[in-house]
Amino acid sequence: MGLSTVTASRILKGQLNGKPGEEGLLEFEKFPNIGLVKVYSNDQQVPDSAATATAMMCGVKTNSMTLGVDDTVKFRNCSSQQGKELDCMPNWAQNEGKSIGVVTTARITHATPAAAYAKSASREWEGDSLMRGVAGGCKDIAHQLVFNNSNIQVLFGGGREFFYPESLVDPVYGTSYKSLQRKDGLNLVNVWGHDKVRRGYKARYAWNSRQFHSINPRTTHFALGLFHPSHMSYELDRKKGPGGEPSLSEMTSKAIKILQRNPRGFFLLVESGRIDHAHHNNTAKRALYETLMFEEAIKAAMTLTNESDTLMVVTADHSHVFNIAGYPKRGSSILGVINPENPDELPPDKKPWTTLVYGNGPGYDWGFRINPLFIDTTNKNYRQVSAVPLSSETHSGEDVIVYARGPMSHLFHGVHEQHYIAHVMAYASCVGRYKDKCQR
Ligand SMILES: [Zn+2]
Repeated sequence: MGLSTVTASRILKGQLNGKPGEEGLLEFEKFPNIGLVKVYSNDQQVPDSAATATAMMCGVKTNSMTLGVDDTVKFRNCSSQQGKELDCMPNWAQNEGKSIGVVTTARITHATPAAAYAKSASREWEGDSLMRGVAGGCKDIAHQLVFNNSNIQVLFGGGREFFYPESLVDPVYGTSYKSLQRKDGLNLVNVWGHDKVRRGYKARYAWNSRQFHSINPRTTHFALGLFHPSHMSYELDRKKGPGGEPSLSEMTSKAIKILQRNPRGFFLLVESGRIDHAHHNNTAKRALYETLMFEEAIKAAMTLTNESDTLMVVTADHSHVFNIAGYPKRGSSILGVINPENPDELPPDKKPWTTLVYGNGPGYDWGFRINPLFIDTTNKNYRQVSAVPLSSETHSGEDVIVYARGPMSHLFHGVHEQHYIAHVMAYASCVGRYKDKCQR
């Protein structure tokens, strides 16, 4: 969610409300403190999400594609990670008696949510089906989540393919994801549930919206929701009935209601994971609607928490090569086409262009640009044009914004290293290395 994504989403939101669009603000843009964040990783100028999320969760920069381990660990080298695991913000919070939750629309084992709990020389090791041939005894990320993180109270997202044994037929998608289901025969959902029952807790598992809504946040101690075999659906495709998927906003509200029963407080990571995926596919409309749902989730969190005791940090792990360009007139549809009245202002191919464009990705035109006036550029599947033909659009290396409100949010005030975010969160909540060094 780079700055261009925020700006374009802000304009879209205004236009959906019948306004020109440029004049408004998203809710988190009204936060009192903002800063810039340098996103490079230990080894890359333009980072991946495993390294950036590790920086934000664990307070150090590390190598791209690695999760929760220090910068001596080499990608895909299991034996190099022994003893190099980092202690991270969720753990620091838990050590002080706070509750922990992770919510995402991506797979719960995907890079950003996994940085909250996993230690892995590869972000790709989400399930044991993806670890064939890996020597050294490393465990997959889903296995780590259930066996090494049994005190995380709320887990909502997608990715049940890595939790079910291959013998189990998915309740919605049948055998479509069988090849990725577990090869070790474990049903990690059952392992998760049995552990809670054995310890005397009330635990609930949900895989659809009806089950999700039946979770009572006032009586439930532990909740696990896996609403898709892989990533949850894009907001523009999401089925909203009882058999469908809850929204990011609904998941965030439920998570906070469960976690805030702990008088010692809580740490919650909420990721709108599919903004990134939509950009990788050059489908800008999808990315913007995911951002607006993220704003809904933030609004829900603002309603349920108090600025006097809860630090909220809104940021992105990295940006994308996504641009708002040309000279569209004030109030022009953000998903629309720029067609200058003076033909001399058209490019040499005499065709208009879209306001939104990408630096690279699958939207490349292969030398023949289709006139965008003859296509519905407001369709959710429309791919904006890119300059370089890559099968997947890339991240970008520019700084991202951090927006903050609540205790110690003024510590975001300039140009910061990304790992500084973990230190502010820890200092504000008196945990980790700051537990005896801050005001309570
Ligand atoms: Zn990405």
